[in-house]
Amino acid sequence: MSQLTDIHYVKSVLQKHGFTFSKALGQNFLINPTVCPRMAELCGADSSTGVIEVGPGAGVLTNELATVASKVVAVELDQRLLPVLEETLAAHQNIRVIHADVMKIDLHRLIAEEFPGQKVVVCANLPYYITSPVIMRILEEKLPIEALTVMVQKEAADRICAQPGTRASGAISAAVHYYSEPELLFKVSAGSFMPAPKVDSAVIRLNIRQEPPVSLTDERLFFQVVKAAFLQRRKTLPNSLSAGLSIPKAEAAALLEKAGIRPTARAEEMTMQQFAAITEAYYDSKQ
Ligand code: SAM
Repeated sequence: MSQLTDIHYVKSVLQKHGFTFSKALGQNFLINPTVCPRMAELCGADSSTGVIEVGPGAGVLTNELATVASKVVAVELDQRLLPVLEETLAAHQNIRVIHADVMKIDLHRLIAEEFPGQKVVVCANLPYYITSPVIMRILEEKLPIEALTVMVQKEAADRICAQPGTRASGAISAAVHYYSEPELLFKVSAGSFMPAPKVDSAVIRLNIRQEPPVSLTDERLFFQVVKAAFLQRRKTLPNSLSAGLSIPKAEAAALLEKAGIRPTARAEEMTMQQFAAITEAYYDSKQ
């Protein structure tokens, strides 16, 4: 078994390098030895797969990914962790650590250069302060990846995986379902991390769709409509769309009528098909 599943070893390496945790960078490192092997097993990687990891931290998940995948490229923002990772991952020849911000790095280029012709997946214990932006960036960029397996706060996992048209859904549910089929894999207690966060987490896998579930004339308008609809989720759609799209209420009501949706409906009741119908009506109204 790897030393990296031994919390005393990880603590001693971090201490040796004078490392202190940064709350601002969402640094809650995994210390439960069962979680990383499970994530590595379920992320869809095999000996011919390339893996991109976001935020390797001390390298506990990176280490497990390197044992199942052909190669791992880990993108870490905190420069202080580079010497730590050099030490903890020294036994592996198939890991490359890149010092960069995942929100800024060119991921298409990274895949083309590091994994030419290979199947690629993303796997990460995401920093909580940028969970949704990272997920949405990876999905919106339409990267040539098969799946995105990430640890997120339990509440975020529930929202992301909720089927559009159900009470638990939000703007992110519709956006994520447009690009992928999300699955909640397993829950992880707050005590599995050092330092322990206030809330539990969960691992989800977003299986990337080959084709979107609805067809749209202008994809960008779909996201504008969804965002506007959920901006004031307790309000009825004519009100929320009017405010969110900056159009008169009568115009919003007309869009709904054209889409065959009753004016008392709320965003959380809308299926992907209904959001698409509103989007198409909105598109037509702008021509
Ligand atoms: N993978 C490690 C683990 O599971 O123990 C650490 C996970 S910790 C929740 C998040 C990691 O993401 C930290 O190492 C943090 O420094 C890094 N990070 C934060 N913001 C980042 C960004 N914008 N780009 C890349 N890495 C980032």
